[in-house]
Amino acid sequence: MVIVFYRPPKSWEEIEAEDREKAASQGITYTAWVEKRAKKKARVIPKEIRREVLARDNHQCVRCGAKKDLTLDHIFPFSKGGSNTPENLQVLCKACNFSKGNSVTSKKAETNKNE
Ligand SMILES: [Zn+2]
Repeated sequence: MVIVFYRPPKSWEEIEAEDREKAASQGITYTAWVEKRAKKKARVIPKEIRREVLARDNHQCVRCGAKKDLTLDHIFPFSKGGSNTPENLQVLCKACNFSKGNSVTSKKAETNKNE
């Protein structure tokens, strides 16, 4: 049996008052708290976008072609203002995403064979 609780819709004043309380409890201003919440929400990639990017990249890693452990990667980092649009997203497997994160280009020292 499913019990559904109906709550009367809150007024904007009530919602704002609650948000201000939450902000105060975290020791930040109301504006900072609203911004923080907006960022948190934006970081989550909507399901439709996920599906679109996965379909576009044939459900495989764009670097190595792996079809397991796929993740969506922001081409332009989200932390630097990159958006959640399909153009800024690509499919990477965990291994490639991890190596991209480190972005260590280890060039093997070339050995001189023509001695
Ligand atoms: Zn890969």
